[in-house]
Parts: sequence; C-alpha cells; structure tokens
Amino acid sequence: MQEPDQDLSFVDLLAWCFRFLDAHPDALLFVKWTCEGCGDRATSNEPNAIHLLGYEHAACGSISHPKKFGVVAAISRARTVGFPSNN
Ligand SMILES: [Zn+2]
Repeated sequence: MQEPDQDLSFVDLLAWCFRFLDAHPDALLFVKWTCEGCGDRATSNEPNAIHLLGYEHAACGSISHPKKFGVVAAISRARTVGFPSNN
C-alpha cells in the first residue's frame, strides 16, 4: 500500500476519515506516525481508531504523541483506494 504524501493534523485527519468512510463504509483506516524514539514510520494495527494519548511503536517500544498523522486505507479485497492530501 502507498503512504499519504503528507501527514495531516488531527482535525484534518478526522475530516478525511469521515469523508472516506462515507464513500467506503467497509474501509479499514490505519493511522501512521513518525516514532519519537527511533524515527521510523510506524503503522497502527488497530483499524478505524485514533489515539490521542499516544502510540507504542512495537519495534522499539517507544511511546509517541504525534501531532501529525498519516493514514493508510484499505477496502475489501485489500485494495488501496486513496489517500488524503494536505492542500
Ligand atoms: Zn520506534
């Protein structure tokens, strides 16, 4: 799956997710963030959930509190259909 071109603020992320889920009710959205510990891009394994209290990067164990989020979208048949843009 592709990554979004840019990360989004929480407000922009929510707006995009609602629009996307309206158009694709069976979609699964996974938040991405940049790990504050190791700097890697990490992806949540919990679909359709945004945690403002932080995310643990399983690979290094660091807790991050992202202010900007990416998102990966998947619909049935595991096909990537679209990503938000930050324009
Ligand atoms: Zn990490």
